[in-house]
Amino acid sequence: MTRKNVYSCQLNTGKQGTRKIELLAPAGNLEKAKTAIRYGADAVYIGGNRFSLRSRASNFSMEDIQELCQFAKEFGAKVHVTVNMLPHPDDFEGLKEYLLELDEAGIDAIIAASPAVLSLARSLDVGYELHVSTQHSTTNSKSIEFWKDQKMDRVVLARECTLEQVSAIAKKQILPIEAFIHGGMCISYSGRCVLSNHMTLRDANRGGCAQSCRWKYRVFDDPKSETPISPEHRLFSMSSRDLQAVDFVEEMINSGVSSLKIEGRMKSAYYIATVVSAYRRLIDEIYEKGFASDEFRKEIKMEIAKAENRPTGPGFFKGIPDRKVQLYRDHDETVTQEYVAEIIERIDDEKVLLRVRNKFTPFSHAEVFGPNIKPASIFIEEVYDEQGNPMEACSHPMQMVMARYDGPAPAFGMIRKRLGDDTTTGRNSDSKESD
Ligand code: SF4
Repeated sequence: MTRKNVYSCQLNTGKQGTRKIELLAPAGNLEKAKTAIRYGADAVYIGGNRFSLRSRASNFSMEDIQELCQFAKEFGAKVHVTVNMLPHPDDFEGLKEYLLELDEAGIDAIIAASPAVLSLARSLDVGYELHVSTQHSTTNSKSIEFWKDQKMDRVVLARECTLEQVSAIAKKQILPIEAFIHGGMCISYSGRCVLSNHMTLRDANRGGCAQSCRWKYRVFDDPKSETPISPEHRLFSMSSRDLQAVDFVEEMINSGVSSLKIEGRMKSAYYIATVVSAYRRLIDEIYEKGFASDEFRKEIKMEIAKAENRPTGPGFFKGIPDRKVQLYRDHDETVTQEYVAEIIERIDDEKVLLRVRNKFTPFSHAEVFGPNIKPASIFIEEVYDEQGNPMEACSHPMQMVMARYDGPAPAFGMIRKRLGDDTTTGRNSDSKESD
């Protein structure tokens, strides 16, 4: 294939009027990838069903990848495929054919960690770009010069860099830089952890991480002792806070970072829609006005919080985080909002066709959000089943219902409710998986 560097590889200078920074979103399946693109992602990264981490994520078949590439093109979006397992000698069978098939499918980049994968792809003269995974823990510009010499097209920086380091590296404009701005963190250096291997014999670098760091432990200084070191922390977890970088995006744009990456290929479509649309608004505001005010950033943070299930923090952007910044004691993950319905279409001036995702009741407050609109409060009045019978509650996930409310009904929009506002206690049909 001769699409050499069809992916725009130019460096983002961060100046007004130049190409906008890329917002790169995760997707565990086709539905999530399309949602991410509809909600404002410039690119999505996905895992194929081979040679990728996140083996538990619902990975893409080659047919799915082809379909996604077609879909992305219609929106001017890009598709990156992770080929980021660290292969052992027995893992190479079919790799060459797989890399060529990805090229035929029309992807824009692979993200790989192993020099064996990267050099094989380079030797095949594929048309897509080669991006060096964060698993390489690239934390300085000398390393980026090395990757440039290896003819790589982009480097994903280590999550362990401070904002100052990210800016200084990006300003050197050696290669396009991708930096994480949101999502789960490893408690160890990303990609350099064998905790899961040790505890469960599941290899984190071959897609099997059991998230052993997030388990609850009792810590003893003497194996014979029956008293944990700190009784007030009887159950100790190394569960790290998620990264949230709303306050740092402006600096990253101005320093010339090329791509802002959201983590979470195993997250729900609702999570992806919420987080992507919030960062989309933030980036657009900064390009439009040259900055994002404190008030605007506060609004974006509140919006993101509607999707969170873990506490967030600045990660390493402000320096090495201490225990207070990085760990949260209460391991239980909480959500404040629930995704209750998917908007299918407006039927007439009054009624909207919805697909139920979680239980909700008529005559209750909710919020609509969707691609390219600001979230809006609504009051759902009567709800009818498909035969036109009034309903007392919508409790069957995937049931089609007609609701009466005064407010926007964007195609592919979502309706969410604050948990506890009424009797919304239904089972979540869009599962909230952990990272
Ligand atoms: S999620 Fe936890 S167990 Fe898994 S690789 Fe990261 S630090 Fe290790």
